[in-house]
Amino acid sequence: MIAFKNLFNNHDANKYYNIFVKKGELEYIKFSNLEKYGYLIEHCFTTRKGGVSTGEFSSLNLGLKKKDSRENVIENFRRICRALNIELSNVVLSDQVHGTNIRVVTEKDRGKGILVDNDIKDCDGLITNTKNVAIVTFYADCVPVFLFDPEKRVIGLAHSGWKGTLEQIAANAVNIMVTRFKCSPENIVSAIGPSIGKCCFEVGNEVKEKFINKISWSENFCTKKDEEKTYIDLQGIVKQTLINSGLRSENIFISNICTKCNKDMFFSHRGDMGKTGSLAAIMQLK
Ligand SMILES: [Zn+2]
Repeated sequence: MIAFKNLFNNHDANKYYNIFVKKGELEYIKFSNLEKYGYLIEHCFTTRKGGVSTGEFSSLNLGLKKKDSRENVIENFRRICRALNIELSNVVLSDQVHGTNIRVVTEKDRGKGILVDNDIKDCDGLITNTKNVAIVTFYADCVPVFLFDPEKRVIGLAHSGWKGTLEQIAANAVNIMVTRFKCSPENIVSAIGPSIGKCCFEVGNEVKEKFINKISWSENFCTKKDEEKTYIDLQGIVKQTLINSGLRSENIFISNICTKCNKDMFFSHRGDMGKTGSLAAIMQLK
């Protein structure tokens, strides 16, 4: 077991846990509440470990928009896809802008952003009910939100940075699952993956006030550091947003891993002062 720093356990203790997978040099994380449905879905959150990129992208950078070589990033994708038994040609990438747009994708979208040009623009989340369409979103401190409805067999991923958390992109994702696919929120299982934790996500008063003005209850997730600075628990806000959308608390797993505290394991925008690669959340219906 890898010893992570600053694992916080004051969110509801539940029976679920992170699953650390090591295949050769490749290391990635699964979540036990999703892995329970491993016969229906494949999923993971990547780490820095096991790729071919070098320098600030060392080594499993999956961001094609970074200044890393395309060849290296594609090789990194090949490695993680092979480990997950996903065809590279099934992969569909988001086009993240810290917004709230979410796109429903189908078999026609396979390969977009990686093997063919991407017409998916301004898109911070992907949803599908189509088998063998591997949805992928990107991170380096922002909060990855995994959603799965085992009844309707629908998967979703949302990139919830502080702006997305403020605009409650996770609620938008649930809403699309409900309206487009008739999902019942109480059936949806969610994992909130590794991201910058409340130990490290320090903001100025301007950002804190944006939260409190927009989401009054978010004050419960703010911890004052001093007159100028506040720590915000983004993972906690995302969980409460999902509960407010009708998800059952016991169906939501918070990974509780801080990417900045563990920057040797994860790309961290703040930890690496902006010079870093991209982690990925990956999900596919089998
Ligand atoms: Zn931290």
